[in-house]
Amino acid sequence: MAEAARSPGASEQRPVTALRGVGAALAERLRRLGVTQVQDLLFILPVDYDDRTDCKRIGQLVPGMRALVEGEVQLTEVAFRRRRQLLTRLSDGSGFLTLRFFHFSASQQEGLARGTRLRCFGEVRRGPQGLEMIHPEYRRVSERSEPVEDTLTPLYPLTEGVTQGRLRMLIAQALRELDTAEIRDWLPRELVDSMALPSLREALRYVHRPPKDAQLAELSAGHHPAQRRLAFEELLAHQASLRLLKRTAKTDPAWALEDTGGLSARLMSSLPFRLTGAQARALGEVEADLLSDVPMVRLVQGDVGCGKTVVAALAAARAAGSGMQAALMAPTELLAEQHWRNFRDWFQPLGLPVALLSGTQPARVRRSALETVASGEVRVVVGTHALFQEGIEFANLALVIVDEQHRFGVQQRLRLQEKGRRHGRFPHQLIMTATPIPRTLAMTAYADLDISVIDELPPGRTPVQTVVVPEQRRDQVVARVEQACRAGRQVYWVCPLIEESEELRSQAAEETAEALAEALPQLRVALVHGRMPSAKKDEAMLAFKAGRTQLLVATTVIEVGVDVPNATLMVIENAERMGLAQLHQLRGRVGRGAAASSCVLLYRAPLSPLARKRLEVMRETNDGFEIARRDLELRGPGELLGTRQTGLAQMRVADLIRDADLLPRVQQAAEVLLARYPDNIAALSARWIAGGEQYGRVG
Ligand code: ADP
Ligand code: MG
Repeated sequence: MAEAARSPGASEQRPVTALRGVGAALAERLRRLGVTQVQDLLFILPVDYDDRTDCKRIGQLVPGMRALVEGEVQLTEVAFRRRRQLLTRLSDGSGFLTLRFFHFSASQQEGLARGTRLRCFGEVRRGPQGLEMIHPEYRRVSERSEPVEDTLTPLYPLTEGVTQGRLRMLIAQALRELDTAEIRDWLPRELVDSMALPSLREALRYVHRPPKDAQLAELSAGHHPAQRRLAFEELLAHQASLRLLKRTAKTDPAWALEDTGGLSARLMSSLPFRLTGAQARALGEVEADLLSDVPMVRLVQGDVGCGKTVVAALAAARAAGSGMQAALMAPTELLAEQHWRNFRDWFQPLGLPVALLSGTQPARVRRSALETVASGEVRVVVGTHALFQEGIEFANLALVIVDEQHRFGVQQRLRLQEKGRRHGRFPHQLIMTATPIPRTLAMTAYADLDISVIDELPPGRTPVQTVVVPEQRRDQVVARVEQACRAGRQVYWVCPLIEESEELRSQAAEETAEALAEALPQLRVALVHGRMPSAKKDEAMLAFKAGRTQLLVATTVIEVGVDVPNATLMVIENAERMGLAQLHQLRGRVGRGAAASSCVLLYRAPLSPLARKRLEVMRETNDGFEIARRDLELRGPGELLGTRQTGLAQMRVADLIRDADLLPRVQQAAEVLLARYPDNIAALSARWIAGGEQYGRVG
């Protein structure tokens, strides 16, 4: 390995501040993205591409297309439809296109005067007056034809504070340096030679600058050999790092939790139900781990509603009964509060107070909660994931429980492990997820974890009845909502996802809520969406939980974990646009009590064959694992849905499902690295995993 041991090329060491246009403020924002060196920029990979290499005729446009067009402004006017907007009519002789702006300035309006030639790029959609683009990118052009782009245009993941244009400019500079500079390939030659994939340098150049004749469909689907080369490296970086992490974690000492106080048994006997066989099995595995002085790092995987929370509570009771502390972290304030209520109801009768740490509680309340945790007075603590990012002191934390792991990436797992270290001992970790993925995939995504599966629902549940209804029959659906509420039940109404931005989505939700409130004046309607301050969101959710409101209109923010057993009807709009995993998560919000529940999937015709199949799967089964299996089957080549949507793992180019065929080689390669090139693992994690430098610290 003489070659790999050579010192890195000069540009690998160049800080981003060496680039034109990067001042202290931008450098700081880039640092938060994990970019400190020029070469780090090259590993911010496009999520998709636009073809701006050729101007389309307006007459050729079809809805859904992202296209570049050029034409002359026929008319620009301010219109008032629900809200003030600027409408510009563009023509190129083959047809008309409306450009619609909700935010605009007077000078922008002037710049769009009749007769102006524009070149604009955006997504074509069907509007009230024919085809339109909402907030397209545009610029004025002269009569003479101006050059178009000569490579496909990369779309980078949107990140806070760094615009698409800025990112493109910076990456272009980094690519120019790639011409002259060295870039280290951390994959030992023996591993890549046999795979007939392009070199790292070629692969990077290709994905950032695909030639005009590149197959856009192949690239968007992530099947190009250049992408496969990078995906392989990324998967390997994750796999090897996770394996290293597990190996390291298991060499640390933990506390053996004997539960001499017998709290776990007392909690168990106070429950109003008996554990299912699957819960008992998972709990048995957890308890065996907790009894040993090797830290547990266990994932409990189980479908929505299978009853993971109580397993977590029994584990927490074991920690408390051993005189130690347990902390439960949830992804949102709302879930934290829900768990806290459950835990309080279970633990208070045993004489154990439960602390809640939430970002929205008054500073004074929070401070006193923090004190009780630091002093050890309180042994069971519930809070949000954010909890751990701050300086919370525990007296003797022995168990950390993380709910809804699919929102909780590798980076956080790492940080957590560090955080819990105390007196040379590590806390046990229990991670819970409802993302139902096949076992082989789970073993890869969670290579650092042991896995328990809860594959059984508590008895007495009536399966949710699912119906698929076209948009035209919306009135009947509204009548059904009324009926359910009149019978004393509650209803969720989930709004469409079709809007591009969170802002437009929230607006759509507001409009839906208004329309429903108008149609159903006797109902108490509430609204939650992503743009609301979290205090308002929680307020709305709590009111719904308490039964003070009957109909909850929401964007998909309600996806995870919310438990309102009295809600028996869920309506999902534009279900044809959602992935199976997401539909399943959403539907899991109903059918949580004894009453029969139903789910209405509203769709807008025409349905693509794939969308039709997806909706059929939803109608046929309620079983999350079955749905995951069918989901995989349905994702043929060219299918754009990937694990990005399921939230399985946050990767830049790889997709565990799409690239599943690479996994056996990735496993083998990880073994080779672990055995013979451990230093390369550190370099690969630093390159691919934000905050991944920490993996390098081998015990
Ligand atoms: P999830 O696994 O989706 O987090 P929860 O833990 O929220 O599911 O449990 C869903 C509901 O089922 C809760 O109301 C819980 O009290 C109830 N539950 C859990 N286990 C059982 C059981 N063994 N028998 C009856 N009900 C149970
Ligand atoms: Mg849950």
